[in-house]
This record gives sequence, C-alpha cells and structure tokens, in this order.
Amino acid sequence: MTFSERNFIKQIEALTPASIDGLIKGIGDDCAVLAKSRDQATLLTTDTLIESVHFDPAWHPPYLLGRKAAAVNISDIAAMGGQPLFALLSVGVPAATEEDWLDQFMTGFQSMLEEHNIILIGGDTVSSPALMFSVTVIGEMETEKVLYRSGARQDDLIWVSGPLGEAAAGLEICRSHKKEYGRWPSLVKAHLDPKPGVKLGRILAKSDMVNSMMDVSDGIATDLAHICTASSTGAEIRAEDIPFSESLLQAAPTLHLNPLSLALRGGEDYQLIFTSSPEHATSLPRLVRDQTGGEIFSIGRITSGQGVTLLDNDRRKDISFQGYEHGG
Ligand SMILES: [Mg+2]
Repeated sequence: MTFSERNFIKQIEALTPASIDGLIKGIGDDCAVLAKSRDQATLLTTDTLIESVHFDPAWHPPYLLGRKAAAVNISDIAAMGGQPLFALLSVGVPAATEEDWLDQFMTGFQSMLEEHNIILIGGDTVSSPALMFSVTVIGEMETEKVLYRSGARQDDLIWVSGPLGEAAAGLEICRSHKKEYGRWPSLVKAHLDPKPGVKLGRILAKSDMVNSMMDVSDGIATDLAHICTASSTGAEIRAEDIPFSESLLQAAPTLHLNPLSLALRGGEDYQLIFTSSPEHATSLPRLVRDQTGGEIFSIGRITSGQGVTLLDNDRRKDISFQGYEHGG
C-alpha cells in the first residue's frame, strides 16, 4: 500500500494522549495549543517545504521563497486568531547550493518575520540531496479566544477573507505559462509571496462573533471538509458567491483555467475561512471594514448533514476533500 498523508496523521493521532496536563489541543487543528498560564495559551505549528514538491527554485526567487516559508507557518497561527512570537528554522542544503542563494533566502525569511515582530530563536542545518526548509512558529493568545476548526454550528454562515484561486493560477503561470509572467503580477505574487492574515485573525478571535476558523491552504473543498469533520456538521457553498479577483477572471480564459475549480481545489491562498452565527451577518463584515478597511465574503452555510456540498445553479455536488493532500 502506498503512503497516505491522512493515514499517517491518524497514526500520529493514535500516539497523542487524549488528555494530558497542559495540552489543550493536540493534532487535528492548524496549531497545537498548550496552556501557558491560567488564561494564556501557547500555539505551535510546523511545516516543511521540499524542493520539487512544494517549490521549484527554477522560478521561485530565493528571497520570496524565504518569505513564503515563514508566511505559511505564520498563517497557521493566524488561523486560530493568535499572535506569532518566535520561529525556528531547519534547512537541508545540497552541497552545490550557492551561498548567495541561501543569503537571499534568509533575508526574505527574516523580512517576513520582521513584518510580524517575530524573533528567530534557533534552528539546524544539515546536508541534503534536495533543498528542504522546516519551520516552526510559536505564538500565544488568550485561551478563551482560540478559534478551532471544531466550533462550527448548524446554520452558521461560512465566510472567506478574500478572493480565492489566485495562488493556484499563479502557480500555473509559473509552471506552464512563463510568457504570461509579467502580465498577471498579482496572481504570480499570490503564489510566490502569500500574505498571512494575522491582523484579521486577531480581530475575528477577539470579536466573539466567530465560532470556527482555519486558513485556506489546500483549497476550500478540503479545508471546509476539515471544519465539517471536526465540528460534526456539513456545509453548503454557493458557486456564485465565491469571490474572485478581476485579474483571475481576466486571466482564466487566456490560460484555460477554471476559477471555480482553482478556488475549490487549488490551495495555498492563505485566506482565512471561518463561520459565525447568522445573527452577525451584518455586524461581522462591518467590524472587519471598520478595523481593516477590507471586505469578507459569505459563501454558504453550515448544515446538519455531512460533507461539503457545492450548489452551482440548480445542481448539488459533494466536493468534500477534493483538494491537494499536502500542506497543513
Ligand atoms: Mg492551516
């Protein structure tokens, strides 16, 4: 039998004690949550990027790759509403790697940490047959305010924090449409240099209006299915309400891309996806607008059923877990 990420995660789950002093949440969310003090929690997340699997140095500039290696981990802290504080970095480097390449990677990594006042506190280097970066980020927040995947309730509205599918389109441009690289800079940037939603995550966690949250790393068909599984609910999303950027809508016909498919299955958008009671249908977007100037988008609702259903015109389709398997 070949390796399955989901089975491996189940194995780790089986090895994690269900209840242990100081552990609030083990495997199964964007971060592990530990009790720090009576009312503060420590958040821990780790993620690994491997050459040829998660990035291609042929078109991912080292400075931006360094930023992304930090950003994808910071995003997991944001996904629970936390404040990132510290980072650890392990690198696996082939002998032929240019020193300048690594310097640029580190400069990019550090620039993303500095944007969020995160301090690099340790790491490791090993020689490796391919480039490999493993990042751990440690954050903290008020224990009572932590937003888990498991908090969604029936009839909750499902929200996303911004347009979807851009990063997947950017990946396609980098991979197969090099000539289009300069034509759609915002799509390429969404893939090469994603922006973690720390500020918004903090605002949502403090709002007391949000019941569940995670970040969009694998496409919403998969990410929302995680919320449904953790919350023992189903979800319905409406195709016509999924937000797309103008750039993606313009680029899609030229590049033969389907924006809806990219949003559902593409991954790596690093937007936040979250749910709230319908009574906050106007107050939650108003709060976000007042505090950030940005919009959030309601794309569906949590149901008593199972799995994720897409409503597209008059058709209903189960799309649970139809995304990338890698990532976290
Ligand atoms: Mg995540």
